[in-house]
Amino acid sequence: MKTAIYPGSFDPITLGHLNMIKRAASVFDRVIVCIMVNGNKQPLFTVEDRLRHLKIVVDKFENVEIDSSDKLVAEYARERGATVLVRGLRALSDFEKECQMAIINKKINPDLDTLFLAASEKYMYLSSSAVKELARFGADLSDFAPREIIDEIKQKYGWEVNYNG
Ligand code: ADP
Repeated sequence: MKTAIYPGSFDPITLGHLNMIKRAASVFDRVIVCIMVNGNKQPLFTVEDRLRHLKIVVDKFENVEIDSSDKLVAEYARERGATVLVRGLRALSDFEKECQMAIINKKINPDLDTLFLAASEKYMYLSSSAVKELARFGADLSDFAPREIIDEIKQKYGWEVNYNG
Protein backbone atom coordinates (compact mmCIF):
# COMPACT_ATOMS: atom_id res chain seq x y z
CA MET A 1 0.00 0.00 0.00
CA LYS A 2 1.44 3.34 -1.07
CA THR A 3 0.95 6.06 1.53
CA ALA A 4 1.54 9.73 0.83
CA ILE A 5 1.59 12.62 3.23
CA TYR A 6 0.36 16.08 2.29
CA PRO A 7 1.64 18.47 4.97
CA GLY A 8 0.81 22.13 5.40
CA SER A 9 -0.52 24.84 7.64
CA PHE A 10 -4.04 24.85 6.16
CA ASP A 11 -4.79 28.13 7.96
CA PRO A 12 -7.41 27.98 6.52
CA ILE A 13 -7.83 25.19 3.98
CA THR A 14 -8.51 26.65 0.49
CA LEU A 15 -9.99 25.27 -2.71
CA GLY A 16 -6.38 25.02 -3.95
CA HIS A 17 -5.53 22.64 -1.10
CA LEU A 18 -8.72 20.68 -1.70
CA ASN A 19 -7.86 20.29 -5.37
CA MET A 20 -4.44 18.91 -4.38
CA ILE A 21 -5.99 16.48 -1.87
CA LYS A 22 -8.42 15.14 -4.50
CA ARG A 23 -5.64 14.63 -7.01
CA ALA A 24 -3.30 12.97 -4.48
CA ALA A 25 -6.14 10.69 -3.35
CA SER A 26 -6.62 9.51 -6.92
CA VAL A 27 -2.94 8.57 -7.23
CA PHE A 28 -2.16 6.99 -3.84
CA ASP A 29 -3.82 4.24 -1.82
CA ARG A 30 -3.77 6.38 1.31
CA VAL A 31 -3.19 10.10 1.81
CA ILE A 32 -2.52 11.62 5.22
CA VAL A 33 -3.25 15.33 5.31
CA CYS A 34 -1.25 16.62 8.25
CA ILE A 35 -1.35 20.04 9.85
CA MET A 36 2.25 20.79 10.73
CA VAL A 37 2.32 22.85 13.89
CA ASN A 38 4.86 25.61 13.50
CA GLY A 39 5.52 27.61 16.66
CA ASN A 40 6.85 30.57 14.69
CA LYS A 41 3.59 31.32 12.94
CA GLN A 42 0.69 33.07 14.64
CA PRO A 43 -2.26 31.23 13.11
CA LEU A 44 -5.75 32.56 12.46
CA PHE A 45 -7.32 29.23 13.46
CA THR A 46 -6.25 26.89 16.25
CA VAL A 47 -5.02 23.42 15.32
CA GLU A 48 -8.31 22.01 16.68
CA ASP A 49 -10.33 24.33 14.41
CA ARG A 50 -8.20 23.45 11.40
CA LEU A 51 -8.58 19.73 12.12
CA ARG A 52 -12.33 20.21 12.30
CA HIS A 53 -12.32 22.11 8.98
CA LEU A 54 -10.29 19.37 7.32
CA LYS A 55 -12.62 16.74 8.68
CA ILE A 56 -15.70 18.52 7.31
CA VAL A 57 -14.12 19.05 3.92
CA VAL A 58 -12.34 15.74 3.25
CA ASP A 59 -14.71 13.38 5.00
CA LYS A 60 -16.06 12.22 1.65
CA PHE A 61 -12.70 10.77 0.55
CA GLU A 62 -12.39 7.22 1.83
CA ASN A 63 -8.62 7.02 1.51
CA VAL A 64 -7.80 10.37 3.12
CA GLU A 65 -6.90 10.68 6.80
CA ILE A 66 -6.26 13.82 8.77
CA ASP A 67 -3.82 14.49 11.56
CA SER A 68 -1.63 17.15 13.15
CA SER A 69 1.96 16.98 14.30
CA ASP A 70 4.65 19.16 15.82
CA LYS A 71 7.43 16.86 14.61
CA LEU A 72 9.70 17.26 11.62
CA VAL A 73 7.69 16.18 8.60
CA ALA A 74 10.36 13.67 7.53
CA GLU A 75 10.25 11.99 10.95
CA TYR A 76 6.47 12.06 11.02
CA ALA A 77 6.32 10.41 7.58
CA ARG A 78 8.62 7.62 8.75
CA GLU A 79 6.42 6.97 11.79
CA ARG A 80 3.29 6.81 9.65
CA GLY A 81 4.84 4.60 6.95
CA ALA A 82 4.51 7.28 4.26
CA THR A 83 7.09 7.13 1.48
CA VAL A 84 5.90 10.07 -0.59
CA LEU A 85 5.51 13.69 0.44
CA VAL A 86 3.15 15.65 -1.79
CA ARG A 87 3.65 19.38 -2.27
CA GLY A 88 1.99 21.85 -4.60
CA LEU A 89 3.89 24.14 -6.93
CA ARG A 90 2.23 27.39 -7.86
CA ALA A 91 4.41 30.18 -9.15
CA LEU A 92 8.11 29.85 -9.82
CA SER A 93 8.65 31.44 -6.42
CA ASP A 94 7.52 28.21 -4.71
CA PHE A 95 10.16 26.22 -6.55
CA GLU A 96 13.37 27.22 -4.80
CA LYS A 97 12.04 26.85 -1.27
CA GLU A 98 10.29 23.58 -2.08
CA CYS A 99 13.38 22.03 -3.72
CA GLN A 100 15.49 22.97 -0.73
CA MET A 101 12.96 21.38 1.61
CA ALA A 102 12.74 18.25 -0.53
CA ILE A 103 16.51 17.77 -0.37
CA ILE A 104 16.64 18.33 3.39
CA ASN A 105 13.74 15.93 3.97
CA LYS A 106 15.44 13.27 1.85
CA LYS A 107 18.60 13.65 3.95
CA ILE A 108 16.64 13.16 7.15
CA ASN A 109 14.57 10.30 5.74
CA PRO A 110 16.14 8.66 2.66
CA ASP A 111 12.97 6.58 2.11
CA LEU A 112 10.90 9.71 1.56
CA ASP A 113 10.52 11.19 -1.92
CA THR A 114 8.86 14.53 -2.55
CA LEU A 115 6.39 14.62 -5.41
CA PHE A 116 5.32 18.00 -6.77
CA LEU A 117 1.91 18.51 -8.29
CA ALA A 118 1.48 21.58 -10.46
CA ALA A 119 -1.27 23.84 -9.16
CA SER A 120 -4.40 23.81 -11.28
CA GLU A 121 -4.66 26.90 -13.45
CA LYS A 122 -7.76 27.97 -11.57
CA TYR A 123 -5.96 28.01 -8.22
CA MET A 124 -2.53 29.12 -9.36
CA TYR A 125 -2.65 32.34 -7.35
CA LEU A 126 -4.62 31.06 -4.40
CA SER A 127 -3.12 30.85 -0.93
CA SER A 128 -4.40 30.87 2.65
CA SER A 129 -2.91 34.36 3.00
CA ALA A 130 -4.93 35.59 0.01
CA VAL A 131 -8.10 34.15 1.52
CA LYS A 132 -7.38 35.92 4.81
CA GLU A 133 -6.70 39.20 3.04
CA LEU A 134 -9.95 38.94 1.08
CA ALA A 135 -11.88 38.02 4.23
CA ARG A 136 -10.53 41.08 6.00
CA PHE A 137 -12.25 43.22 3.35
CA GLY A 138 -15.45 41.20 3.43
CA ALA A 139 -15.02 39.92 -0.14
CA ASP A 140 -16.99 36.98 -1.53
CA LEU A 141 -14.91 33.87 -0.75
CA SER A 142 -16.93 31.32 -2.68
CA ASP A 143 -14.30 30.88 -5.42
CA PHE A 144 -11.51 30.50 -2.90
CA ALA A 145 -12.50 28.59 0.22
CA PRO A 146 -14.66 25.49 0.81
CA ARG A 147 -18.24 26.70 1.32
CA GLU A 148 -18.56 24.79 4.62
CA ILE A 149 -16.02 27.04 6.34
CA ILE A 150 -16.58 30.42 4.68
CA ASP A 151 -18.83 31.74 7.46
CA GLU A 152 -16.26 30.85 10.10
CA ILE A 153 -13.53 32.67 8.22
CA LYS A 154 -15.70 35.78 7.84
CA GLN A 155 -16.60 35.74 11.52
CA LYS A 156 -12.92 35.83 12.45
CA TYR A 157 -12.82 39.26 10.84
CA GLY A 158 -15.96 40.46 12.54
CA TRP A 159 -18.33 40.13 9.59
CA GLU A 160 -21.87 39.22 10.33
CA VAL A 161 -23.04 35.96 8.87
CA ASN A 162 -26.51 35.38 7.54
CA TYR A 163 -27.42 31.79 8.38
CA ASN A 164 -30.49 31.92 6.14
CA GLY A 165 -28.19 31.93 3.17
P1 ADP B 1 2.91 25.63 4.15
O1 ADP B 1 2.86 26.60 5.29
O2 ADP B 1 3.58 24.33 4.46
O3 ADP B 1 3.33 26.19 2.81
P2 ADP B 1 0.25 25.70 3.11
O4 ADP B 1 -0.99 25.33 3.86
O5 ADP B 1 0.39 27.13 2.72
O6 ADP B 1 1.39 25.20 4.02
O7 ADP B 1 0.39 24.79 1.83
C1 ADP B 1 0.50 23.41 1.90
C2 ADP B 1 0.89 22.87 0.52
O8 ADP B 1 -0.14 23.16 -0.39
C3 ADP B 1 2.15 23.49 -0.07
O9 ADP B 1 2.82 22.49 -0.81
C4 ADP B 1 1.63 24.54 -1.01
O10 ADP B 1 2.53 24.78 -2.07
C5 ADP B 1 0.39 23.84 -1.51
N1 ADP B 1 -0.60 24.79 -1.99
C6 ADP B 1 -1.11 25.85 -1.35
N2 ADP B 1 -2.01 26.51 -2.11
C7 ADP B 1 -2.08 25.81 -3.29
C8 ADP B 1 -2.81 25.99 -4.50
N3 ADP B 1 -3.62 27.03 -4.67
N4 ADP B 1 -2.64 25.07 -5.48
C9 ADP B 1 -1.77 24.05 -5.31
N5 ADP B 1 -1.04 23.83 -4.20
C10 ADP B 1 -1.19 24.70 -3.20
